[in-house]
Amino acid sequence: MTDIPKIRLSSITCSDRRMDIVDTNIILDTPINKYEISCNACHFPNIDKTPNPYYIAKGRDFSGIEIMEADLGNLFISNRLKKIFEILFPNQCTYEKTFIDKTEIPTKWWLAIPSHTIISGEVKDNVKRCEKCNQPLHAHPGTQYKFWLDDFEASFDIIKAENWICTDSYDWKKTWIGRDVYLSVRLIFLLKKISAKGIYQNAFSKFKKLTKTEKDWIEQAMETIGGLCQNAKKEITKETIEKFKRFYSITDNGELAPAQFEKKFKISANEIVKNICNIKCETEINIGFESPFIVEPIENWKSTKTKARLIAFAFDDFGNHLLFNPKDKNCPLYLYDHETMLYDLIQESILNLTEK
Ligand SMILES: [Zn+2]
Repeated sequence: MTDIPKIRLSSITCSDRRMDIVDTNIILDTPINKYEISCNACHFPNIDKTPNPYYIAKGRDFSGIEIMEADLGNLFISNRLKKIFEILFPNQCTYEKTFIDKTEIPTKWWLAIPSHTIISGEVKDNVKRCEKCNQPLHAHPGTQYKFWLDDFEASFDIIKAENWICTDSYDWKKTWIGRDVYLSVRLIFLLKKISAKGIYQNAFSKFKKLTKTEKDWIEQAMETIGGLCQNAKKEITKETIEKFKRFYSITDNGELAPAQFEKKFKISANEIVKNICNIKCETEINIGFESPFIVEPIENWKSTKTKARLIAFAFDDFGNHLLFNPKDKNCPLYLYDHETMLYDLIQESILNLTEK
């Protein structure tokens, strides 16, 4: 038997405010994606069949982080981390695009679904089970489990728990269920090194310090991923601006419209804002919403009263509009949904609209 070096893994935690779980008036922790039901007696969902398309709740603007827990042992990751995972851990995850709830608007997040699972705990024998499918009717992690692993050794870097837990001690349907996800200690420390924020190693993990082998692996991994170590905010280059101008047929480079903008909002117009000001009225902006947004003349643009002032410049017939943040040099693009009255970040930079 060959001695395969074992990889140390820990469960992870992240912010309580989740992207695919919301609190409703009736029930806390409701998944916004609907799972297939696998048993018609206890209504237990098919937890291994991830819904597709996969939605993210409205009003979840998590800029500045790149990795989050998703429902049932999956992860949300940025495009940079997807590239890194594909290089360092091929075939350990499958990836799905994500969309803003009930729309076809893509978000910047990938859903990463770990391919490998582990039994990280076992429900006690005295917990009642469904007579038809044998799933426990509840599985509280503290009191109803025989054992529970916070960390272990295995041959992969990304693994999710096969088993599930619920917070209610009598009926999982009262809240919702969860599954743990485990990352290798070396990956957790690599994420720290490359400033990919969003998750934490379980506070009770025994694996707090890196071994020499893990340190060496991290150094090697950083060499392998090269430029991806840098969390470079998208560079605003002459080319990307030129591409934007061509895409929206901006021919006027005049200062008139930018001056009108500056006078109206008392905000100085940066390079990108100047170009937005020079988009011709009536230009259609299509972001995958039901209907395109129409750019209005600057006299009809509106400013929000939010802390970071956003400027609405393109509108549809239903009361939804597109906004940009003029004080951020990348000019991120937001969508206002008139039904929910929430603003959603849809592009880190308005320049990304030209990437299809
Ligand atoms: Zn059942």
